[in-house]
Amino acid sequence: MQKNDDRLVSEPDATGHWGNYGGRYVPETLVAPLDELTREFMRARSDSSFAHEFEQLLRDFSGRPTPLFHAKRLSEHGGGAQIYLKREDLSHTGAHKINNAVGQALLARRMGKQRVIAETGAGQHGVATATVCALFGLKCVVYMGAEDMRRQALNVFRMQLLGAEVVKVDAGTRTLKDAINEALRDWVTNVHDTYYLLGSALGPHPYPLMVREFQRIIGREARAQILEQTGKLPVALVACVGGGSNSIGLFHPFLADKSVRLIGVEAGGRGDSVGEHAARFKSGETSGGGRVGVLQGTMSYVLQDEFGQIARTHSVSAGLDYASIGPEHAYLHDLGRTEYLNAGDEEALEGFKLCARLEGIIPALESAHAILPALRVAGEFTRDDTIIINLSGRGDKDVQLVADLESHKH
Ligand SMILES: *Cc1c(COP(=O)(O)O)cnc(C)c1O
Repeated sequence: MQKNDDRLVSEPDATGHWGNYGGRYVPETLVAPLDELTREFMRARSDSSFAHEFEQLLRDFSGRPTPLFHAKRLSEHGGGAQIYLKREDLSHTGAHKINNAVGQALLARRMGKQRVIAETGAGQHGVATATVCALFGLKCVVYMGAEDMRRQALNVFRMQLLGAEVVKVDAGTRTLKDAINEALRDWVTNVHDTYYLLGSALGPHPYPLMVREFQRIIGREARAQILEQTGKLPVALVACVGGGSNSIGLFHPFLADKSVRLIGVEAGGRGDSVGEHAARFKSGETSGGGRVGVLQGTMSYVLQDEFGQIARTHSVSAGLDYASIGPEHAYLHDLGRTEYLNAGDEEALEGFKLCARLEGIIPALESAHAILPALRVAGEFTRDDTIIINLSGRGDKDVQLVADLESHKH
């Protein structure tokens, strides 16, 4: 996956730590399998035949490279820098998640694992995983909270059509966090023949590193495309941040380009208090922002209540609705290399409609969070400058939800 033109920075140490963040906080039984996975990934990473097969599949199966599109009417509306959209929404299955799923499925096959398990919230990662398992003829089991299954019935049916078994999780809040716990439990029990295909730049080492490496293709393409189209680097990149995979994938190849601002947008939900948002980097005493802690195998910023319990979260978009964030983001945040803004539910809906009307592109609600903050940043620059927004996914999955929200308003 590494090419000569990539300047490699922000590498974790051998134990998967970026500074104090990351690492491995797992039961003893998972240490050996995670070591095995790390070894195999490191070997694959420096194996040009692996890189070749990965890139070939992304091209022929997933449709890469995705275009970089000059959004002229959106730029006009912003009245500042020219806006370019990195069109991950045009990827097979409708989002960037397929990049990681293809990479990890190749790794599972290389390791001789016949059974793949995954967790899913809204179902996008579950669909991507079921898709690559069908492609490779692997058995697929997806854990999903009962509440999420109810809200995302269409994605449940999609996964089943693709041959996956969807296991309903009734524990806890019956959402993503509980599905991850069940998937980890399954993995502990069946680790000899099972590969755990984790969906974001989260979890114990080597997952945050591995997922970033598979998503880096976004930034590599975008960097070459903007240079080709405009002859210079952009002033800023803007991407929504759930677990942090589409954003780190876009940002990483630009880390050494000090003039490029790297801006993540978190879910501001419907208010500032604990439980009303998923903005881990929100600052200020009463902001309900995150504190350093451990969740699901990794050390990072975690939304917690006053007793240190994992806080509830809220966002109109399921893909951003998570209490923690990938450890590399925590590290880059503390270094000051990345910046984080947040957009609330209402702003996301506004961005969603603006993008549809001005550009003829209906974005995922996750991606829609990035639009208004990006326009504000664009306003600080001139028409000769450029900004790239990562359009992480398409919005077909959200059309019904937006229609319901709109009808409640009237
Ligand atoms: C899952 C998802 C996200 C959030 O996940 P990241 O790991 O932060 O990228 C964002 N956009 C879309 C379309 C998604 O499906």
